[in-house]
Amino acid sequence: MKRRLCLKYLCGVAVSTAVLPRLSWAEHSGKGVSMEKTTHLDEQWQSLLSPKAYDVLRHEGTEPAFSSPLNKEYGEGVYVCAGCALPLFKSSSKFDSGTGWPSFFQPIEGHVDTKLDFKIILPRHEYHCVRCGGHQGHVFKDGPEPTGQRWCNNGVALNFKPRLEIDATTKP
Ligand SMILES: [Zn+2]
Repeated sequence: MKRRLCLKYLCGVAVSTAVLPRLSWAEHSGKGVSMEKTTHLDEQWQSLLSPKAYDVLRHEGTEPAFSSPLNKEYGEGVYVCAGCALPLFKSSSKFDSGTGWPSFFQPIEGHVDTKLDFKIILPRHEYHCVRCGGHQGHVFKDGPEPTGQRWCNNGVALNFKPRLEIDATTKP
């Protein structure tokens, strides 16, 4: 009986990983990735995400400054949406803004969209993942060269995928 349960579990793992696309480094960098919209009902998002990620991604919450380990992550890789795994930022565009939130000077082209937000009365440009609509953060005009932009992201809305890990899982 134990063995049967174990086999069933392993089978489930094999199926679920087979369903997940194994993106190459080039695809993680934004070339050729599927842009088919990810849609779930609110209660489905709630069961799929951690409470903190759900609050940020689905209700435009803000995590406390300096709370994300990604704030100090500077390895080579790609930052993907915690809601749908769409690559949003390359590590090469990350910089230390000193704000306590992971910050980037540019997103992967076409993978985020912006809208005006008046939550703190003063207008700000909110941005979100184009594939699942998950809120990521706000973009400001006080960033470094070459863009002068600061894409201020909630760490809990992202997952970091190191390049070495991506290369290791996609080599033939
Ligand atoms: Zn997404």
